[in-house]
This record gives sequence, C-alpha cells and structure tokens, in this order.
Amino acid sequence: TVRVRFAPSPTGMFHVGGARSALQNWIYAKQQGGVFVLRIEDTDAARNKPEWTEGILSALDWIGISRGTYEGPHFQSENAGEHRAAAARLYESGRAYYCDCTREDVQARTGSQYQGYDGYHRDRNLGPGVGHALRFRTPDEGTTVVVDLIRGEPTFENRLIEDFVIARGDGSPVFLLANVVDDMTMGITHVIRAEEHLPNTPKQQLLWDALGVKPPVWAHVPVVVNEKRQKLSKRRDKVALEAYRDEGYLAGAMRNYLMLLGWAPSGDREIVPWSVIEDEFRLDEVNPSSAFFDEKKLRAFNGEYIRALPVAEFIDACQPWLTGTGTIAPPPWQPEEFDAEAFAAVAPLAQTRLAVLSEIVPNVDFLFLASPLIDEAAWTKTMKDGSAELLDDAIAAFEALEAWDADSLKSTLEAVGAERGLKLGKTQAPVRVAVTGRTVGLPLFESLEVLGRERTLTRMRAARL
Ligand code: GLU
Repeated sequence: TVRVRFAPSPTGMFHVGGARSALQNWIYAKQQGGVFVLRIEDTDAARNKPEWTEGILSALDWIGISRGTYEGPHFQSENAGEHRAAAARLYESGRAYYCDCTREDVQARTGSQYQGYDGYHRDRNLGPGVGHALRFRTPDEGTTVVVDLIRGEPTFENRLIEDFVIARGDGSPVFLLANVVDDMTMGITHVIRAEEHLPNTPKQQLLWDALGVKPPVWAHVPVVVNEKRQKLSKRRDKVALEAYRDEGYLAGAMRNYLMLLGWAPSGDREIVPWSVIEDEFRLDEVNPSSAFFDEKKLRAFNGEYIRALPVAEFIDACQPWLTGTGTIAPPPWQPEEFDAEAFAAVAPLAQTRLAVLSEIVPNVDFLFLASPLIDEAAWTKTMKDGSAELLDDAIAAFEALEAWDADSLKSTLEAVGAERGLKLGKTQAPVRVAVTGRTVGLPLFESLEVLGRERTLTRMRAARL
C-alpha cells in the first residue's frame, strides 16, 4: 500500500507552503487507498519547541487533516537509535568513512575557494573518535536518477556529489540520514515534499541504495513565491497559516486556494467543493514551476466562501472576533454590551461585504459601544459647511417620525436632502459619521433601525455640540 508522510520541523509557525504539501500528501493517500503519516522532525533541539508541535497539530486540524484520522504523530527523536544503527551499518560495510578535516584543512589543500570535500580521508582508515565525522562515500561514476512524479527523471552525475557528512563529530546523525532512515522504518513509498529539498534527493537516494532498500517515488512540489517571485519567507511575508486563520479566513477557502498553487480543477473553475478537488487532483498534473501566493486572490476567494454560508453559520463563524477567543484580539466593546439580537439583525448585511471575518468588528462596533469610535479624519472631512444645518434638519425630521424603520428613515432623509438640492449619498454622509464614527459601513438606514431611535438621536445631537 501507498504510504506518504508529512514531516514538518517544529521550529516556528506553520507555513502556508507546508499546509499545501500536507494537503497534497493527504489527498494522494486518500486517492490511492493509502496511509498518511505525520512525523514531527524534532531533532534540532536548539530550535524546536513543544508549542510549535501543538501548533502544527492544530493547524492541520483546522485545514481538515484532523487528529485521529492519520497515523502518528511520530517523532523523529524517538527513532534516534535507528539513525545511529544505520550510520554504523554504512561504516561497517565500507560505504562511509571517518574524517576529521575542517573546512580550512580542505581549503588549504585545494588552494582555492571551498568547493566541497576533496575525499582526503577516503582511504586513510581514520576510524571513529571524538571530532571524527562520518562521511558517505559517493560513487565516482554513473548517475543517480530520481523518479519524480512532477519533474520526470531529474538526473545527477555522481562524480559531482561530494562525500557528504552523515554523522557529526559528536556521533549525532544529520538530517539527511535521519530523514531517510525514518522514511525507511515507516515504510514510506512516496515522498511528496517541497522543491527546496530536491538538491538533497540524489544524496538521499544513494543512502537508500546503500542501505539496501528500494527508494521511494518522489514528488517535489513547487516552491511558493510572493508577487516579486521571491520564495515566501517568514521575515518578509505573511506565511503563517495561523495568521490567516486569526484574520478570519475560512478553512474551506484556504484549502481550496492552497490546492490551486500549481494545479486547477477541470472546466475553468477555481472555487469548487472539496470533494471535487479530492476527485480531480492529480499529483502528476502539478505544474513544476514556482507558484504565486496571491493574497488578493485569496481574499476574493474568502469573500465568496463567506457569502456562500447560511446566515446562521456566518453568525457562528463570527463569534471568535465578537468575543476575542484564543489568539484573536478582543473587540473594543465589553462583553455585556454585546447584543446578539441586534447582531443577528445586521449579520446578513455584513455577510455580503466582508473579505475576512475579522472585518466584522469595525462594521458592527457602533451597535455595541456606548458612543461610536470616531475616525477623526473622516469626521473633519464630512462635517464641512452645511453639515451642521443638515444634521439639525435631519434630527428634527427623525424626531417627528412615527415608524422607526429603514424605509421611513430613508424617505425622510431623502426629503431633507432634496430641500437643499443634495443627493441621498451626500445627505447620508454626516448622519453616518455622527452615528457610526465612520464614512463607510453597513447600509445606513437598516443600521439606524437596529440601533434604535434613542441612540441614533442622541448621537446625532452629540455631533452638534
Ligand atoms: N523536516 C523537513 C522540513 O520541514 C522535511 C523534509 C522532507 O519532507 O523530507 O523541511
């Protein structure tokens, strides 16, 4: 059976590129009736933290790879004995040898810039000892052909592959070896991982051969880049899946978008149900060139996913931002100021205008705060000549209203504007700023209806002081 693995290192936030690879592994396993294994590569003790492991598990969970539905998590550190045993086997069979050269030693001998190890200790029988690294003896001739579902058969000249280190001077195996030994002991048949590991692949395949096990089939999925075609980086770009989650991207939108990095479903469609992606995705159709992570497009996607929700689900989905849960910042109002009924009344109006769920807060805060948050620039810009008088007339007209509903409010304000030869848009502006503090927001008259007569008039009067 097909066995794939996703093997993140717990050294930071969970990268969107990693989420993409995880999903591709996941779908491939599902299509092949295979097994998805999660392996946490936790051997870099200096950079690992347990909370990053928890972060990986919950990020996977969020994107739809739920705990309990896959094998693992296994931890690389638990397999340390196997890593050492493999290193010893390679030494005993003559496939690896000890070396105590420093980089400077090599450079002094070759007299040029360091261009890789020169093989000095190949036949010197140095033997184990403190500070002696173990190097793999690569073949001098022939080629290593990697079978890659996405890239065909990348071929590497063995003579260009240096005798690389497999265990450090303190005896600890390096990543290249540990990663191979884990895949071997876990029976991995297909390694689907990011393109940046491709340079490691011929070395790793040589290790598989030397250890006497048939190497896996590889698939190196494209690197994810920003709009400048630079590889997405932690320092420069927003790469953490958690950051997107906390901003209010829906998991469904996110995973749909991630699967479009280098691939597309049939029929010119982009937004499709997950089941279609699970059916149609073909690993060997993934485009090998780098894939642009387009946040604008993702936002547009997300907006569509938000609009497609039944209102009740939309209301549920907004809760974390309305209350401030976990890593999401609390809203500006106090919990007791929140009014679920008022929120439900405006929710359908908000649902059509959000790209991300966190935008719900500035859209509805005027409903829950005792007085609105005033955007000073908007206020000065809007409360220009004539606005005061306009507001006075609007106050008087609203006071006289019998029915406080959106339609009556609208026709009333329209009439006030008409007297001054103003279109509704212009007439609305000072009322909106007075009541919500902002120049943009939900449809005004529905908002006023929900806010109620008392609070609306109080705010309009306050704007006149
Ligand atoms: N721990 C490695 C990484 O996170 C995994 C490499 C692999 O998938 O083989 O990049």
